[in-house]
Amino acid sequence: MKKEFQEKSLIRGLNWLIKLRWIAVFGTFLIISGVQFVLGIELPLFPLYAGVLVLLICNSVFFQYNQKLKAQIEEESWLKKANRFANVQISLDLGLLIYLIYFSGSMENPFIFYFIFHMVIASILLSNKAAYLQASLAVTLLIIMSLGEYFGYLPHYHLNGFIEQELYNRSYYLAGIFFAFISTIYLTVYMATFIVNQLREREEELVVLNEQLAKQDRVKSQYVATISHDLVASLSTQRNYLEALLDGLAGPFPEKARKVLVKVTQRTSNLLSFVSDLLDLSRIRTSREFTKESFSLVEAVNKIVDHLKPEIEDKNLSIDLQFPQNDAQVYANYNSIEEVLINLIKNAIRYTPSSGSIGIKITELKPECFHVTVWDTGIGIPEEDLDKIFNEFYRSKNAAQMVKDGTGLGLPIVKEIIEAHNGDIWVESQLGKGSKFTFSISD
Ligand code: ADP
Repeated sequence: MKKEFQEKSLIRGLNWLIKLRWIAVFGTFLIISGVQFVLGIELPLFPLYAGVLVLLICNSVFFQYNQKLKAQIEEESWLKKANRFANVQISLDLGLLIYLIYFSGSMENPFIFYFIFHMVIASILLSNKAAYLQASLAVTLLIIMSLGEYFGYLPHYHLNGFIEQELYNRSYYLAGIFFAFISTIYLTVYMATFIVNQLREREEELVVLNEQLAKQDRVKSQYVATISHDLVASLSTQRNYLEALLDGLAGPFPEKARKVLVKVTQRTSNLLSFVSDLLDLSRIRTSREFTKESFSLVEAVNKIVDHLKPEIEDKNLSIDLQFPQNDAQVYANYNSIEEVLINLIKNAIRYTPSSGSIGIKITELKPECFHVTVWDTGIGIPEEDLDKIFNEFYRSKNAAQMVKDGTGLGLPIVKEIIEAHNGDIWVESQLGKGSKFTFSISD
C-alpha cells in the first residue's frame, strides 16, 4: 500500500516537473529577449538562446521517457527508476540554470535565487538525502563558477547597463551574497524536507486508517449479510403463507379481512425486496470476487427487455434498442451484469410517465470493451442530487413523489457490481426531460 502511494505521488510529481519546465523554457526565452531588446541590457545572446534550446530538447526527451515510464508502473524496479529519473532531471536543471546565470552576469544576476525553486522541488520529490545532495551540487556549481571568475580562470560576462561596478571588484559584497545564497539553499532544503516529512507521515497514517476503516466496513457488511439472510428466509415463508391464505387455503374471508390481508401481503413483499437488496449489497461488499464467463450483452439485454415487456406495454412506452454489429461478447459475471441491467431498465420504466420513451444502446469502444447506456425521457434527476443517488437509501424528492415504494438500494448495488468489474458508471440528466445512465465494461 505504502509503495502504491509513493508511486502515485512520484507520478504526479514527475508530471508536474515536466509541466513546470515547459513554462520555464517559455519564461526564460521571454526574459532574455526582454532584457536585451526592451531594457537594452547587453547579453551574449547566442549561448543563452542555445541554453534555452537545450532545455527545450531535454524536456521533450523527458516528456517521452515519462510517458514510457508511466506504462511500466507494474515493474518491480519502477520506484528506483522513477527516483533516478527525478534526480537526473533536477541535476540537469541545476546545471542549465548555472550555465544561463553564468552567461548573464553570474553573481550579479538577481535570478540566482531561482535555485530555491529547485531545492523545494527536490525536497518534495526526492528522499531527504538526495535533496541535500542536490543542494550541495547547486552550491558546488556556484563555487566553481564564482571562484573561477574571481581568480580569472573563467571570463566574466558583466551586465552592462544593469549594474555599474563589477561585483568581482567588491570582495566583501560578493562574500556576503555568497554566504546568504549558501545558507538560503540549505535552510530551504531543511525547512521544505521538514514540512514534507510531516506530510508524508500524515499521509501514511491516513493510508493505515483507511485500511482499518475498510476492514471494519467489511465486518459490518458481513454482519448485515448474516442478519438479512435470516430475515429474507422468514419473510419469504411469511409471504408464501399470506399468499396461500389469499388464494383460499383456509376458506373465504370476509371482505374487510381480505383487504387487510392484501395490504399485509403487499407490505411484506416490499419489506422482502428491501431486505433482499440489503443482502445483495452486503454480499457484494464482503466478497468482490465473481466467477466470470463469456456471454453476449446483446442477448442479455434482449432477454431482460422481453421479460419486462408487460411493464413497458402497461405504460405505453416506446423502446429503442441500438446494438453494435456483433453480439457484444464480454467476460464477466452473468448474474451480476443481468442485475445491473434489470435495475437500470426498471428504473427507466418506473421514472418515465406513460407514453414516454426508453432506450438501451451498446457501443463498442474496442474489442470486448463496451459502453452500455440506458436512457429515458422521464422525470429526470435534480442537479444537486446527481452525485447522491449512488449513496445507500438516497431517493430524490421527485422520484419519491412519483413512486412511493423504492428502497434507494438499486443504484448502490449497480455501482458496487460495476466497480467490482473494474468498470465505471455515470449519469447525465435534466430535470423533467430524462436521464441517461452509462456504464463501461471490459475484460
Ligand atoms: P429506488 O429506485 O428504489 O429509489 P435506486 O437506487 O434504484 O432506488 O435509485 C435511487 C434514486 O435515483 C431514485 O430514487 C431516483 O431518485 C433516482 N433515479 C434512479 N434512476 C432514475 C431514472 N431513470 N430517472 C429519474 N431518477 C432516477
